[in-house]
Amino acid sequence: MLDLLVAAPSVGLVLAGALGLIVGSFLNVVILRLPPRLEHQWRSDAFEVLGLELAEPEAAPPGLVMERSHCPQCLAQIKAYDNIPLFSYLLLRGRCRACGLRISPQYPLVEAATGVATALCVWRFGISAEAVGAIALTWTLIALAGIDLRTQLLPDALTLPLLWGGLLLALIPLFASPEQAILGAAAGYLSLWSVYWGFKLLTGKEGMGYGDFKLLAALGAWFGAVAILPIVLLSSAAGALIGGLMILLRGRDSQLPMPFGPFIAVAGFTYMILAPQLRIWLPLFVPE
Ligand SMILES: [Zn+2]
Repeated sequence: MLDLLVAAPSVGLVLAGALGLIVGSFLNVVILRLPPRLEHQWRSDAFEVLGLELAEPEAAPPGLVMERSHCPQCLAQIKAYDNIPLFSYLLLRGRCRACGLRISPQYPLVEAATGVATALCVWRFGISAEAVGAIALTWTLIALAGIDLRTQLLPDALTLPLLWGGLLLALIPLFASPEQAILGAAAGYLSLWSVYWGFKLLTGKEGMGYGDFKLLAALGAWFGAVAILPIVLLSSAAGALIGGLMILLRGRDSQLPMPFGPFIAVAGFTYMILAPQLRIWLPLFVPE
């Protein structure tokens, strides 16, 4: 099997893309269900800390794995054959089979993005331990970006394991040496932390959240201190471009907060896939 994959790289790409589509379908569930579960947990923790009794114990929101999805309008359970990543959405033309409610384009977008991103990991690293690590990181980044876009949160439940994971993988080492990983984690956190405080002292406004620092720290742990500058530059450039376009095209209020996590996630992924090319195009900003 492995021989076949090595001999015919395109087979590996197709399989990775198919795996990505399936996992993307699960990431949609994580993006939708993890924040309400965390908020439920925080509320019950807060009551416990304050020594208060809940008037009525709240039922926990649906879990990530066991509970089947249903249409939010007609409550019809989504049948397995209507739950095929990407294809079901296209086949049903984006509507619930039972009641015709529009299905959020988030579903096919996350599935397609996960499929393409997973294939890109195999394109970059071949069939290797690096590819496995890259894919795990990519899936976590997609969940984080989706959650940040929807809720403006980057949960510790995802950013912190990503950070520990990056530090532990440096022991092999997978992408960065232990020295680079430790420095990268600190540099990632501190660089955005200082931007945040500088901005806050100058303008009195908060431009980012602590989740952004933790996410960049995690990427520093994975790819080393050398990756921080390129990732910060890529994410700021993309953020300025998209933010500017949204203000121009849609008249978005420039005072409205825009989540920065998705830009950090995309920049980290871009760095992972294109570091060799970036090093040639922008040698000054992408150190070896
Ligand atoms: Zn329905």
